[in-house]
Amino acid sequence: MTNSAGFHHVTLVSGDPKENVAFYTKVLGLRLIKKTVNFDDPGTWHLYYADETGRPGTVLTIFPFPNTPRAQPGPGFVRELRFAVGAGMLAFWHQRLLDLNVKTGSYTAFTGDKYLKFADPDGLPLAIIESQAGYEGYACEGLTSPQAIRGFAGMSLWAGRAGASARTLEALGFTQLTDTRFITQDHQVIDIEAGNGAPVGRSGAGSVHHVAFRASSDEQQAELVSQVRLLGLQVTEQVERNYFRSVYFREPSGILYEIATDDPGFLIDETAEELGAKLQLPPWFEQHRAEITNALAPLS
Ligand code: ZN
Repeated sequence: MTNSAGFHHVTLVSGDPKENVAFYTKVLGLRLIKKTVNFDDPGTWHLYYADETGRPGTVLTIFPFPNTPRAQPGPGFVRELRFAVGAGMLAFWHQRLLDLNVKTGSYTAFTGDKYLKFADPDGLPLAIIESQAGYEGYACEGLTSPQAIRGFAGMSLWAGRAGASARTLEALGFTQLTDTRFITQDHQVIDIEAGNGAPVGRSGAGSVHHVAFRASSDEQQAELVSQVRLLGLQVTEQVERNYFRSVYFREPSGILYEIATDDPGFLIDETAEELGAKLQLPPWFEQHRAEITNALAPLS
């Protein structure tokens, strides 16, 4: 049995990329580390936010489609995505979100954790939690490193088949804390909320497109795939994603999962200082750079 260390990245479907970039960089203070295109749809952006260098577990990526209808929340989707901050930072974030006119819930007690709920511009439910997960935060305008978001604290999954969804997290090597709660080696917490007959959700702006888990190497990825296949789930062949190599499968409640390698990472085509400065295309799209650039929606 091998264990995935935790989240590699989480990918969202969003609406207007301009609003999205403003929110995730200016309000949440994440760094836009990579501007590239959706490799399966190269006329659209694929934007990556993360800590300073894009370490696994801090990477949030978006597929923005301006004018796309909003998602319908429901089973088969991530219900809430949670970011980690250091101990004692919740009050700071509550005030910061109020100052920046982001509607927040008050601190909510949820299975013992204190956390701050809010939503992104497309209505995706987000929360900030004081957590041991993540790395030193990325200091930017208005945020010191100790105040900054440190990566993902975890998420809740809305699961029509809660038991089978739990078995899948087990097969990825996460530790079960309670019937409905798992923890990763990277200290992220995954909660499973039973669907209870609610109508299945629908993808759209403000939904999580997929959740990617870490593999330290191709060998570990292959072992994780074997563990998942033992549950009878269908996993794709490995796909080259330039910054990592991935396999994909749908878990039993319908959430799309990916297992992505830690290597080679985001420093293969830009230095740490330059990250996110220019449109980066994989070698197979480079000859179409001009057409691709013209098709992309403006970011500011
Ligand atoms: Zn992905």
